[in-house]
Amino acid sequence: MKKLELLYEGKGKRLYRCEDEDLLISEFKDDLTAFNAQKRGNEEGKGVLNCQISTKLFRLLEENGIKTHLVDTISQNEQLVKKVDIIPLEVVVRNIATGSLVKRLGIEDGKVLPFALVELYYKDDDLGDPLVNDEHCLLLDIASESELEELKRLGREINTILKSFFAKRDLKLVDFKVEFGKDRDGNILLSDEISPDSCRFWDAKSDEKLDKDRFRQGLGGVKMAYEEVLRRIKN
Ligand code: UDP
Repeated sequence: MKKLELLYEGKGKRLYRCEDEDLLISEFKDDLTAFNAQKRGNEEGKGVLNCQISTKLFRLLEENGIKTHLVDTISQNEQLVKKVDIIPLEVVVRNIATGSLVKRLGIEDGKVLPFALVELYYKDDDLGDPLVNDEHCLLLDIASESELEELKRLGREINTILKSFFAKRDLKLVDFKVEFGKDRDGNILLSDEISPDSCRFWDAKSDEKLDKDRFRQGLGGVKMAYEEVLRRIKN
């Protein structure tokens, strides 16, 4: 599939038009950003690792009945994906308290939550991706009531599948963010990516961080951590 012009460049990926009107090419970049892009970095090979990790996880989810935008991989850091209209919400699911949840509500860092907590954030860089509730979404016409229910249900289902997959690989799935899009028939498809850029993984025994927090917190060993996640996923 021939890569045509660049349509959109995000923080972690570039999207290109291709010969098929209904498909796009998604290229994973080596760039790293944190804190609403106030901290920037680059890790050679990160794009390839995230593409491989995300492809494996999307396939796993497809096998478990979750519809996704993924069609195929066409190189080490490029996927062929279905064209969708991205719903401007970040669906965050948490199993263990850390990050913004701890800052916002004062819950102890590392506390195992009694149930999977689902949160919605409005994707708007100028507003700093604010936390929103269902009524905010209805007010802003981001999604309908039934779509909001579906997004939250899908978030929980993805969590159930991934949490047990990673537990078998000695990784705690602390939290993660997913995005969804609508295809031309209105079907809601899991889109974007699932990778150590968008998830928190802690080693089950040592609680060592194996995700983008290594970059956010300047811990070093970013690439090694992503390689370790891929190694365990392949096991
Ligand atoms: N996350 C993400 N993109 C964002 C914000 C969060 O992928 O723009 C992911 C993040 O990697 C973590 C989860 O969502 O796995 C929850 O992040 P949190 O709200 O704790 O935000 P942070 O502490 O990163 O500000």
